[in-house]
Amino acid sequence: MRTKIIAGNWKMNTSLADAHILATGVRDGVEHIERIETILCPPSIWLASVAHDIVQKGQYPHLHLGAQNMYYEDAGAFTGEISPVMVKEVAEYVILGHSERTHVFGESIELINNKVHASLAHGITPILCVGEDDQTETSKQIVLDTLRKLLDGVSEEDIKKVVVAYEPVWAIGTGKAATPEYAQEVIGYLREILSSDTRILYGGSANDENAKSYLSQPDIDGLLIGGASLKLKVFLTMCQIADDIGQDLGHQSLHS
Ligand code: PEP
Repeated sequence: MRTKIIAGNWKMNTSLADAHILATGVRDGVEHIERIETILCPPSIWLASVAHDIVQKGQYPHLHLGAQNMYYEDAGAFTGEISPVMVKEVAEYVILGHSERTHVFGESIELINNKVHASLAHGITPILCVGEDDQTETSKQIVLDTLRKLLDGVSEEDIKKVVVAYEPVWAIGTGKAATPEYAQEVIGYLREILSSDTRILYGGSANDENAKSYLSQPDIDGLLIGGASLKLKVFLTMCQIADDIGQDLGHQSLHS
């Protein structure tokens, strides 16, 4: 049974004070939402502080931290970057290949593939983003081909550990969310090259009103949420919806 994930990508938002308020609000709000994994991905400069806010001696085992990006080398002359060794000290997940990394910062498939290998080698779970720029008849195939390249050289065993986030670029931050049926169709297709254990998320203008329709789809294992993750009440509602669906599916509390 694949445990559902609700992941918040705060992108380049929040002051330190806001990050603290949001993180502790989520921590307290998900205290009894234990059938899912909740992941917070603050800006890297706040990671250690948010780690302190939410990770207190295993008290919140269903709440996790993720970085929004990292480089693949362990250390060295890479000004402005953070390394897997650094991420590992504070977080368990890392978002890789987000479309803002590829479109704004020009990251290549090869670079992202190196990062995927580095994260797995360091025991950090990659949340690997993939999605088409425009919705066309060939979208599904484009996404599948890109995912194959992003996962080049990753063993079958490691593919089970990767979390894939299907994020159609046209739906990110636009308010034009993909229909749940379309997201299911693409994600079901991607599952063909993945393991049945691999969790696949949908991302793109997800919110508290459409969350249930995605999370009820057979192959959609959670949501990667941008804008709505900055609104505490909305984010917590989405966590609760995922938890309720987990209950309907007969999930046990992760930690009971
Ligand atoms: C994202 O940035 O990963 C994302 C899905 O953003 P939004 O929810 O704002 O569309």
